[in-house]
Amino acid sequence: MTARPCDHEEAVLAATLDASGRPLADALVAHLGACRSCRELHDIASVLHDDHATALVEARVPSAGQTWWRAELRARQDAAAMAARPITVVTGLAAACLIGLLASLTGLLAWWLQDAWTMPATVQVMAGRLATAVVAPTGVGLALWLALGVLLVATPLMLYVALRDD
Ligand SMILES: [Zn+2]
Repeated sequence: MTARPCDHEEAVLAATLDASGRPLADALVAHLGACRSCRELHDIASVLHDDHATALVEARVPSAGQTWWRAELRARQDAAAMAARPITVVTGLAAACLIGLLASLTGLLAWWLQDAWTMPATVQVMAGRLATAVVAPTGVGLALWLALGVLLVATPLMLYVALRDD
């Protein structure tokens, strides 16, 4: 069974929570002495009001400049992550293409090794020239080795740049 609310509860609550710190009116003080419900309300509201005031004093709110700096830093990080996303995709595609190219060359080489005896003469000549160009220090061989070297150096660098965390 709940007690019937007192008609003065709103006035007691408003006077207790009044931030100006004025003392309660004499009529309210007299009523608090007579009404148990309003006295409990006053005690609870006083404790909550004091706790709120203490929390306001002890709260460590960052300055406006610090908040602005943090927001700007987060915006920059988000923008950098957004900008790096296509680079990561392109790097992944390049890596997939490189793997596909290597797999094709491996397949071609395997085919060449398997069918070296039955290869048509023109293909044999072309394969021989390609093998000679790769091995011998000619202009084509040098270009192929340079391209391979650039790929070997650039691929890890591009992967590092694309995948690093800022
Ligand atoms: Zn009352």
